[in-house]
Amino acid sequence: MAPEAPYIESVMIDPFGRHITYLRVSVTDRCDFRCVYCMAEDMTFLPKAEVLSLEELERLCSAFVRRGVRKLRLTGGEPLVRKNVMSLFRGLGRHLETGALDELTLTTNGSQLAKYARELAAIGVKRVNVSMDTLDKQKFRQLTRWGDLDQVMRGIDAAQDAGLHIKINAVALRGVNDTEFDQLIRWSHGRGMDLVLIEVMPMGELGGEARLDQYLPLSLARTDIARHFTLTETDYRTGGPARYFTVEETGGRLGFITPLTHNFCESCNRVRLTCTGTLYMCLGQEDAADLRAPLRGSPSDALLDQAISEAIARKPKGHDFIIDRRHKAPAVPRHMSVTGG
Ligand code: SAM
Ligand code: SF4
Repeated sequence: MAPEAPYIESVMIDPFGRHITYLRVSVTDRCDFRCVYCMAEDMTFLPKAEVLSLEELERLCSAFVRRGVRKLRLTGGEPLVRKNVMSLFRGLGRHLETGALDELTLTTNGSQLAKYARELAAIGVKRVNVSMDTLDKQKFRQLTRWGDLDQVMRGIDAAQDAGLHIKINAVALRGVNDTEFDQLIRWSHGRGMDLVLIEVMPMGELGGEARLDQYLPLSLARTDIARHFTLTETDYRTGGPARYFTVEETGGRLGFITPLTHNFCESCNRVRLTCTGTLYMCLGQEDAADLRAPLRGSPSDALLDQAISEAIARKPKGHDFIIDRRHKAPAVPRHMSVTGG
């Protein structure tokens, strides 16, 4: 038998010269909420057999770290509902100790944070993104279908007690939370948390929910916010696509993620991995590479490295998200919970 090809230890640079240093991993497609812009109420989830084990996910993430990824974000679905997920965090935390990784972080709906905040902090997680679109309990229940705002608030308290820095993500939804931005700014900044507003993206069928009705261009939200607050542009970046402003009245930071009204692809440094080992080179495109077969095909990482290199060589220039009356179908048929936000 011919010997296997040697490891390719090279860093990942795509055809447009972008250095890939950020990996987002959806560790499960399951969730304890059913947010109206993210999931249909009667979602069908992947059979467990198709999902990578936590050991496989750790091996896959570690291969990316070896190839130059400096920032890892675990997401989902809801990452903290995956059974035993702390063992994955612990395993990946080792790369923080060796200095191979700068940051290990997560995006969560906060429902399980009260349980895990201390352990996450002990592992070396420093920052957490918590998604919260409204401070109104009833509205929160309607938006998430199954969520309990008090439980999320307890999670945020626990995370802050544990010393974690929190960034609040809120999806801007027309007619739902568009009158609440001022309140969200005062609340998050009052607690020392950044707030980031996100434009709703056309991903996945929602079962009756009309995407066009939800869409609120953030340019409008910003104009509205600027009536009550003074926004000063900053060059603060977190490695993600948000553009940040300082709100002079609160001293806090407000970010905007505007995939639809402002294209941020030219500085994209990230790729996304699903819990089945599928690598998406762009959140807004269909092209993907299967890393599960090469992962399982050999105990060494040679096949995997080759598949990663081939995938990065296909990273597209940008996405083609459009929401308007002529485009009724989602631009991307998979839900956000598959690739992770
Ligand atoms: N369950 C976790 C949470 O909610 O934070 C992590 C996964 S969730 C898919 C990640 C982020 O994607 C959340 O901030 C959520 O609000 C956002 N999101 C989900 N569907 C979206 C959509 N269609 N457009 C824009 N953001 C979306
Ligand atoms: Fe679950 Fe997050 Fe999607 Fe809401 S946005 S349904 S919490 S994965």
